[in-house]
Amino acid sequence: MIPYEVEYLRASSVQQALSVLAQNPEAKILAGGHTLLPMMKLRLARPGLLVDIGRLPELRGITVHEDSVSIGSATTHAELEANAELRQLAPLFSRAASVIADPTVRNRGTIGGALVHADPSADWPAVVLALGAEMEVVGEQGTRRVPAHEFFVGFMSTAVAPDEVLTRIRVPLPVPGRVAYRKFRHPSSGYAVAAAAVAIEAGQDGYAWGRIGITGVADAAFRAREAEALLEGNFTGLTDRVDAIVDAAFAEVSPLEDNFADGEYRLQLGRVMLKRALLDALEPLG
Ligand SMILES: Cc1cc2nc3c(=O)[nH]c(=O)nc-3n(C[C@H](O)[C@H](O)[C@H](O)COP(=O)(O)OP(=O)(O)OC[C@H]3O[C@@H](n4cnc5c(N)ncnc54)[C@H](O)[C@@H]3O)c2cc1C
Repeated sequence: MIPYEVEYLRASSVQQALSVLAQNPEAKILAGGHTLLPMMKLRLARPGLLVDIGRLPELRGITVHEDSVSIGSATTHAELEANAELRQLAPLFSRAASVIADPTVRNRGTIGGALVHADPSADWPAVVLALGAEMEVVGEQGTRRVPAHEFFVGFMSTAVAPDEVLTRIRVPLPVPGRVAYRKFRHPSSGYAVAAAAVAIEAGQDGYAWGRIGITGVADAAFRAREAEALLEGNFTGLTDRVDAIVDAAFAEVSPLEDNFADGEYRLQLGRVMLKRALLDALEPLG
């Protein structure tokens, strides 16, 4: 399919991108283009002007601070998979990145594009929810920090307004010590039919808490709060609570349905992925 004719601007700064967005309601940010360009070819999106932020140095790369890791929104999936420091500090990133689509998509697609597009089957939403990340969103009025659990507001819809740019993803350190990601891939696209990200911290006093991010199952990725409440408590015996945690995670969920997976099948895949992720996270370190 051939895209229609469209104006293109390679932004020289986030500030320039913001003022172009403010002056052109038909303009849209372009990052890796791996969602927006296919949508334009299918005429599902029709921006009149593409504002390319994909190569802005201020939006690329991973910076480690004392209490957080800051990831530029235009950092590619492949860069997140390969970064040795991130692999050590927050291994969920490399685990999730390694199962996104294929090398071509991973080399061009960006974490920011995936988060703002908010496909209900995208991988990164589950990861940022489980890690309690914060999104830095910049507009002409200033900068906002949006916690991951307030970022995904509905089907392909986020807290980012059309005239704003997601600039960075901040992950608090230290990341919980036991993390896992399990995904049932769609056999054709590689997107998650159902996937679960789990981050559990077990203190020296034997007290455990954790976060659970689920993607693929409902119209937007979500934190399984009821399940997290059951997870919290004595670490010993957590394995015995796994089935109850899984039940609680999906008790109130209205599942997505499509030609590949009806609601019942999708919920069942979600349960299986979460159970496996919990058991992975609970395995003795060694
Ligand atoms: C064949 C194929 C398979 C795929 N499989 C998977 C998969 O298994 N798992 C998965 O998670 N994803 C998958 N994807 C999606 C892929 O990860 C995309 O790269 C990602 O969804 C979008 O990132 P992008 O950088 O390409 O964004 P773009 O396509 O450039 O932009 C996407 C949307 O986000 C907006 N946007 C982008 N960046 C910003 C920003 N910083 N601030 C504000 N708005 C912004 C754009 O305006 C646009 O609306 C797949 C894509 C393809 C083509």
